[in-house]
Amino acid sequence: MEAVATPKPKDAYRNYDAPARDTVREFYRLNHTHQTHDFAVAKKAEYLRFDRREMTWWEALDYLNTLVDDSDPDIALPQVDHLLQTAEAMRADGQPDWMVLTGFIHDLGKVLCLFGEPQWAVVGDTFPTGCPYSPKVVYSEFFAANPDMQRREFQTGTGVYSEGCGLSNVHMSWGHDEYLYHLTKDYLPQPAQYMIRFHSFYAWHREGAYAYLQDDTDRAMLPWVQKFNPYDLYSKNPDRPKLADLKPYYEDLMAKYLPATIKF
Ligand code: FE
Ligand code: FE
Repeated sequence: MEAVATPKPKDAYRNYDAPARDTVREFYRLNHTHQTHDFAVAKKAEYLRFDRREMTWWEALDYLNTLVDDSDPDIALPQVDHLLQTAEAMRADGQPDWMVLTGFIHDLGKVLCLFGEPQWAVVGDTFPTGCPYSPKVVYSEFFAANPDMQRREFQTGTGVYSEGCGLSNVHMSWGHDEYLYHLTKDYLPQPAQYMIRFHSFYAWHREGAYAYLQDDTDRAMLPWVQKFNPYDLYSKNPDRPKLADLKPYYEDLMAKYLPATIKF
């Protein structure tokens, strides 16, 4: 995939044993300690009322430009650069325009930070809550400090879920994936919805864990999530794209699929 410029070899990304940024380990300690099932359910109830503020997509993007993601071992550039790098790599490969748009907006749920959420409640890999933790989740040793570890109903069998219930019925750890999915699901095709909702669920789309939760739709959509991933991951590089040059193209693309403003 030539268009996905790689300034370092692929196995040098997502290196959690010797992360280049030392905030990463502490991030996952906090994330795995505090993201309980009750927390995920409560945050959904709170945020899916969409009663915070109405913004244009560009206002949300402008805010994201000030945020650096503590969970990311690979990049310390502003988020808009990451969104443009992801989308431009897709565009260069001739991917469909709805996928380019998905690449461009996929991390916009990080505006949760704007509403005062700590990074451990916004970013990082996600995992299902209310069922046994998989050792395939990054830094899974930190789950030892999660209060859900003491709840038998969560840690036995398939937890609060039935086998094959489908990921749409699973309460994932709360963060930018789930939030943006609910903000955009009425406007984008189903593969795009899956890319947005599960792009941080590496234990599933990369490691094959939690397969017992999948239904037929999840199995059909998994290849799309996997197709999305290299653009999200391997397009990260220190060269900053020129927003001013690219803005007209992305303005048109957003206008084609999305309403002008969105209620966050
Ligand atoms: Fe993300
Ligand atoms: Fe991303």
